[in-house]
Amino acid sequence: MYLKSLEIFGFKSFAKKSELLFTSPITAIVGPNGSGKSNVAEAFRFVLGEQSIKSLRGKKGEDLIFNGSAKVGKLNRAGVKVVFDNSRRSMPIDFDEVTIERVVHRDGVNEYFINGTQVRLRDIAELLVSAHIGASGHHIISQGEADRILSANPKERREMVEDALGLKIYQYKRVESEKKLEKTRENIEKVASMRRELAPHLKFLRKQVEKFEKAQALKEELRTLYKEYLKREDLYLKHQKQFIELEKKAPLEELAILDAELVAARAAVTKAHEGTGRSHELLALEAKIKIEREKKDALYRDMGRIEGELNGLQRSLRRYEEMLKAEDTKMIPLKEVQTIQQEIDVVLSESVATSDPTRLKELLRSIKDKVSAFISRHRTQTDTRERDNYLAEIEKLTGERSALQSLLDSHSSAQVELAQNYEELKRSIEKEKEGGLEAEKSILKIMARQSEVNGRLSSLRAFEEKLTLEKSDFDRELQEAGVMLGREVIHFEQYELPTGPITLEPERAPQLDRRRTIEKMKIRLEEAGLGSGEDVLKEFRESEERDTFLAREVEDLEKSAASLEQLIAELKTKLDVEFEQGIIKINLQFNAFFQVMFGGGTATLQLVKE
Ligand code: ATP
Repeated sequence: MYLKSLEIFGFKSFAKKSELLFTSPITAIVGPNGSGKSNVAEAFRFVLGEQSIKSLRGKKGEDLIFNGSAKVGKLNRAGVKVVFDNSRRSMPIDFDEVTIERVVHRDGVNEYFINGTQVRLRDIAELLVSAHIGASGHHIISQGEADRILSANPKERREMVEDALGLKIYQYKRVESEKKLEKTRENIEKVASMRRELAPHLKFLRKQVEKFEKAQALKEELRTLYKEYLKREDLYLKHQKQFIELEKKAPLEELAILDAELVAARAAVTKAHEGTGRSHELLALEAKIKIEREKKDALYRDMGRIEGELNGLQRSLRRYEEMLKAEDTKMIPLKEVQTIQQEIDVVLSESVATSDPTRLKELLRSIKDKVSAFISRHRTQTDTRERDNYLAEIEKLTGERSALQSLLDSHSSAQVELAQNYEELKRSIEKEKEGGLEAEKSILKIMARQSEVNGRLSSLRAFEEKLTLEKSDFDRELQEAGVMLGREVIHFEQYELPTGPITLEPERAPQLDRRRTIEKMKIRLEEAGLGSGEDVLKEFRESEERDTFLAREVEDLEKSAASLEQLIAELKTKLDVEFEQGIIKINLQFNAFFQVMFGGGTATLQLVKE
């Protein structure tokens, strides 16, 4: 590998860009004093990373930038670029040419580039060391610097020799490794102290977690117990409810019947009482009957009177008619009879002769008149008006009698009807009275039975109330269990014992025992303070993870410290060996060179043990 070119722009006296090409192994730059020859060597040191401004004959970075002249103004940046041939890959970089560039600005900021890519100073240093071109891997012997070599102390001289032997890379690596080792030890201490700090907290958390895990186990046990308890309680409550419903059914039905019976009996009693009221009706009927009877009696009396009168009149009439009968057998002289016969014969003859019906009717009426006149002439002149009076009176009285009779008849039937009504009313009142008595008796019976049935029902209700309380206790317990042990415990319906499905127990005592056990376990759980368990567990896991991480970190750091120690030891050995071999080679050349320079004699470099 060799240097190909150096490009300087704005560095010290180089205002214009100047490129120096090193095409032969030896290059000489010549010029008058102050023309800037040393500036070329400094430009080389500058680009290879020299950090001492003083050694570049400046006080600050700014002094390295072209400061202006009479003709040219000052610049703001100084840049130097160096190009190496890398076709042999002396530098671990996959390019045939390697360009290293450094730029400094007036504000003192430096920029570094490798093949145009901006890098850190450290990258440039590492690249140069790898190619044995450290800051002292090349030799710039400035004016008066030969003195420096001669007057150097053994340590400085050893460094120069190491540099010349190309051992600087090992030194560099050794220093870097020692720095790394130191850093690693610091890190080990840091991490170990972090672990130490974490340890008591982790210990505390571990205990908490153990407590929490115990509580979890307790919780699981409680969950199983709870499920059995809840299932049994549910069965018990359902069974009791069913039992009460069933027990209540018959008394309730009976009570409904008894109520209806009571209503009917009360109605019967009321009706019987109303019967007492109806006896007034009976009295009223009696009064009516009496009135009817009195009316009838009066009518009978009238009837008697009329009949008496009628009998008297009929007797008088009979006597009168007998008197008239005696007149019917009276003797009439024949002459008179013949005269009337002749008169009738004349009329009859004309009647036979005539064909006029009107005339015939007149003739017949004249016959009748003639006969009537004949009889009247012969009848004793008696007063027939008396007879008519009798008859008229008899007729009147007969009419009155029949009117009375019909009145009597109607009164009689009214009386019969009233009597019938009276009897019926009386019978019905008596019947109702009897019914009322029966009803009163049955009311007492019904009420007695009602109180019996109600007694049974109220004891069932008390039982029911107790059951309601037990149910609300159960609901509360269910809720508590859910809160404490999660929803799973609430779904106890499907729960079965390992021995099989859970059935109703004949006794209550085992279930009460279970409840007591559960209560005790709940207290234990509460004491364990389960609430923050999840958080503690989380924190513990995190802390444990952190501790494991830190332990691994310490382990890794210790491993890398050990390998660094080994590397340092190897480097030291290598340095010692190569240094000693190098000294031998140098001494050969040194001695030969000395003899040439001084015309004989010997010269050696000797190792001084410190
Ligand atoms: P000699 O042989 O006498 O040592 P030389 O050829 O090595 O001289 P240098 O010492 O390299 O010359 O150059 C010094 C010159 O560089 C001076 O003229 C100085 O003015 C100039 N110089 C140094 N720094 C700057 C700067 N920042 N700007 C401009 N010119 C500068």
